[in-house]
Amino acid sequence: MDKLPATVVAAIDQAHARQEDPLALFIYDLDALQRHVTQVMAALPEGVELYYAIKANSEPQILATLAPLVHGFEISSGGEIDRLQACPTRKPFIFSGPGKLDSDLRAALQHQVEAIHIESLNEIVRLQRLALEAGRVQDVLLRINPELPSPLSSKLAMAGTATPFGIDESELARAVSGVDNASHLRLKGFHVHAMSHQLQVERHEQLLDLFLQRWPQWKALSADPAAITHLNVGGGLGVNYLGPQQFDWQRLCAHLGRSLAACADAPVVRFEPGRFISAFCGYYAIEVLDSKTSHGKHFLVCRGGTHQFRLPVAQGHDHPVIHLPRHRLTPAATRQDWTVVGQLCTPKDVLSRDCPLTGVEIGDMLVLPLAGAYGYNISHADFLCHPRPPQVFVQEAGVASWG
Ligand SMILES: *Cc1c(COP(=O)(O)O)cnc(C)c1O
Repeated sequence: MDKLPATVVAAIDQAHARQEDPLALFIYDLDALQRHVTQVMAALPEGVELYYAIKANSEPQILATLAPLVHGFEISSGGEIDRLQACPTRKPFIFSGPGKLDSDLRAALQHQVEAIHIESLNEIVRLQRLALEAGRVQDVLLRINPELPSPLSSKLAMAGTATPFGIDESELARAVSGVDNASHLRLKGFHVHAMSHQLQVERHEQLLDLFLQRWPQWKALSADPAAITHLNVGGGLGVNYLGPQQFDWQRLCAHLGRSLAACADAPVVRFEPGRFISAFCGYYAIEVLDSKTSHGKHFLVCRGGTHQFRLPVAQGHDHPVIHLPRHRLTPAATRQDWTVVGQLCTPKDVLSRDCPLTGVEIGDMLVLPLAGAYGYNISHADFLCHPRPPQVFVQEAGVASWG
C-alpha cells in the first residue's frame, strides 16, 4: 500500500505546476480501476451477475471506465439516472432505495429500468399506478429485511434488525400477493442488501447460503413461482482501511459457485457492490501547511480536511497516510507520531491520529489511499467556503483529465 503509482505522483506534480496555493485534490487511477474490476468480474461463477452501486462514486470517468466491464448499474435516485444517461456506454440499471419520488420512478420507467427494488408495501401501490400511467409492465424485486441470526450482522447493518430498508420478512407474503395482483408489476425476484463493511469472507459465505436456503420459501409465496428467477444479494463487501488483508472475493465466488451447483432450483444471483469496486483506485492528496505541538501531541495541519474527505471520521478510523517528501530525506530525519488534520475550525477535522511519519516538512504532500468510494461525494465540501478540490483522473502514460 505504501507504493504510489507513478501516474498518481505525476498528477500531483502537474497539479503543483497549475496552482499557486497549496494543494488538496483527488486522484483516481482509472487503469487500476479497470484491472481490479476485470479481476472481480473474472471470478464470478457461471450465471452470477455484478451491478455496480454508483452511489459509492458516480463521477463520469469512473462510470465510463466501469460500464464496458460490469453487467449493469444500481442506482438510488433520479440524479443517478441522469449520471447513467450521460455515460457513453449504455448498460442495464436497477433502482433501489427508500423514499423514491414519483418523479424518480417515472424517470426510471421512461429509461427502461431493468428492475425496481420495492422497499415497502406502499411503494407497490404507488409503482403500480405509475407503471399503469406509463403503459409499461415493470419487473420488480421485493427488498426483504430478513430475520438473521445475530452472528451474521455487521458493523453497519441494513437488515436483520430495525431499519428503514426493505420489507419486514413477516410481511413478505402480503407484499408478494400485492405484486401478484398488480396488473403492471411482474415479480422477478428478491433483493437483500443486509450489510456494509463486510470483511469476513466466512460470514458472507454463511449469509449467501442462508439466502439460498430461504429462496425456495420466498418463491413459494407467489402464485407463479416459476416466473421468479432473480436473487439480488446486495453489496456490502468491505474494504480494509487499516491493514493489507482485503476481502477474499475469489474465495467467496468459489464458495457461491459450489453452493449454486448444489441448489435444486438455483436463482440468477446478482451482486451490487459499490465500495469494493471503486475504493482502491482513489487517492486524496493534501499539502502540509503547518506543524505544531499541543499538550504533548504533534499536529500536521493540511490543506483540505474532512469537509472534502469525510470517510475517516464517518467510520471512526485513522486513515492510512503515505508521505510524499519534496526533498530526499536526510539521515537526520526523525520518525514521529503525527495527528493529521485539515483546515476546519473544529476539533473533529481529523483524518488520522498518531500516524508515524519520517521527516515531514511544511510543503510536503500526504496521500491518503483507498479514497475512491464514499470519499468526496459523502463530504460537506461547502463548509467554511473553501474551494472544492479538483478531481483528477489518470490513465496510461500519465494522461490526466481534470474534473
Ligand atoms: C449502498 C448500497 C449498495 C452498495 O453498498 P457497498 O457497501 O458500497 O457495497 C448496494 N445496494 C444497496 C441497496 C445500497 O443501498
